Amino acid sequence: MIVSGFSGAGKGTLMKRLLESHDNYALSISMTTRAPRPGEIHGKHYFFVEKDEFEKTIAEDGLIEYAQYCGNYYGTPKSYVEQCLNEGRDVILEIEIQGALKVKKKFPEAVLVFVTPPSAMELRNRLIGRGTETKEVIDKRLSRAVEEAQGIENYDYIVINDELDRCVEDIHAIVMALHCKTNRSISIIEEISKELNEISKGEEK
Ligand code: ADP
Ligand code: 5GP
Repeated sequence: MIVSGFSGAGKGTLMKRLLESHDNYALSISMTTRAPRPGEIHGKHYFFVEKDEFEKTIAEDGLIEYAQYCGNYYGTPKSYVEQCLNEGRDVILEIEIQGALKVKKKFPEAVLVFVTPPSAMELRNRLIGRGTETKEVIDKRLSRAVEEAQGIENYDYIVINDELDRCVEDIHAIVMALHCKTNRSISIIEEISKELNEISKGEEK
C-alpha cells in the first residue's frame, strides 16, 4: 500500500498510530537528502544521506523509486521492502505522488491511498503548528500540495484525516478488505470445488 498526501495532512502521525495499534504492518524507511528534523533518528525515520551517496544508490539500482520534492531527493530502498513482502507483511510506503505512480507502474497490484485534512485552513494550521519548517518552506510545501492534488484521479482511495483514530481505522479497513480480494484467495475456491466434485462422485457410487 502506498500512502500519499499533502505535507502536514498527518501521514506520519497516522502511520505511527497504525503500527502501534495493529500487527503485521511494516513501514518502509526512505532515504533522503533533507536534513533531519529535531527528534528524527537516522535509520528509524529516514536514512539521511548526502546527495552523492543518494546518487550512488540510484546508480547501483538500490531504489524501487525516487523523486525530488521541494529541493531534496527522496527514495525507497529495495532490500527492506522485498524482505518484508517475503515475510508476508503488509508493507506501506509513505511517499509523494511522482514516486507513487512509478511504483504503481512497476507493481500494478499496489494500492494508492491519499490522505487529506478536512480543509485547506486546517492543513496550513497543522503545518505551522508542527513548527518544523520555516515560513518559506511551508509556502513551498503548500504550493506543491496544489500540484499533487492534480494527480488525485490516479489514487484508489481518499481518506479524510479529521479525527485521528477514525482515520487509522479507515486505512486498516482498506487493508483488511484487500486481504479478501478474489485474486488473493481464488485457490481456496478451486480447492473446495475439487473436493466437492470428489465427494459427489463418491456418493454416486
Ligand atoms: P505529514 O507526515 O503528512 O507531513 P504530520 O504527521 O507531521 O504530517 O502531521 C502534521 C501536524 O498535524 C502534526 O503536528 C500532527 O501532530 C498534526 N496532526 C496530525 N493528524 C492530526 C489530526 N487528525 N488532528 C489534528 N492534528 C493532527
Ligand atoms: P517530509 O520531508 O515531510 O518527511 O516528506 C516530504 C514528502 O516526501 C512527503 O510527501 C513524503 O511522503 C515524501 N516521501 C518520503 N519518502 C519518500 C520516498 O522514499 N520516495 C518518494 N517518492 N517520496 C517520499
